[in-house]
Amino acid sequence: MAHTLDERIMVFDPPVQRELTRLVRGLFAVEDDALHRVRQNTRDLGLPEMQIRPEEGQMLQFLAQVIGARRILELGTLAGYSGIWLARGLPDDGLLTTLEVDARHAQIARDHFALAGVAERVTIIEGPALETLARLESAPPYDMVFLDADKENHPAYLDWAIEHVRSGGLITAHNAFRGGLMVTGGADGKVAATREFLRAMAAHERLTGTIIPVGDGIAAAIVR
Ligand code: SAH
Ligand code: MG
Repeated sequence: MAHTLDERIMVFDPPVQRELTRLVRGLFAVEDDALHRVRQNTRDLGLPEMQIRPEEGQMLQFLAQVIGARRILELGTLAGYSGIWLARGLPDDGLLTTLEVDARHAQIARDHFALAGVAERVTIIEGPALETLARLESAPPYDMVFLDADKENHPAYLDWAIEHVRSGGLITAHNAFRGGLMVTGGADGKVAATREFLRAMAAHERLTGTIIPVGDGIAAAIVR
């Protein structure tokens, strides 16, 4: 089951695409010691290897910096890997709030944020994201949201995000391609929910969206 980092370059990608991914990774998405250790630790602790790839993390960090994000909300912390990339895209007084339902994941992520030196910029809120979002209702708008929790709720998370991301802010979501299942006819509940999510993003009058074809596809929309 354990995948090496290279295997986690999309397995259905043709050889040239894999080499191009390695090119991007080698130039722009180099993991420092902390990120490398977090990835290794996540595997050693037997957590599911669902974290984003380095070039996806670096793309998210790039996007955060493009819009000058100061407040980012993440759904789905796991062991903190994506959160570290995002937090490092924030200014010193910026804040990443990240939501996680699994208490063990949250505890491990807490250790990893400390290891990566971003703990003071990150708040983890435990619990099912839908419930937490309802409590965040009155909080001021976010500059950027990154959705990477339970895919079945992505359409609902999108509705929330549209109301809570500032004009000019970004709504992003991982796994827009679902490993290729979006086009190869696979039809589990996650594919159906992802399709609904992408259609809603594409159709919404206040969103200008796209899928950035890095890794498993990052859906991204700017709020007008
Ligand atoms: N973003 C992480 C990977 C997240 S994996 C990274 O790239 O490093 C998905 C995570 O979402 C898991 O840790 C899972 O426990 C969490 N999750 C699943 N359903 C959730 C829910 N309803 N609310 C909050 N978190 C949830
Ligand atoms: Mg994901």
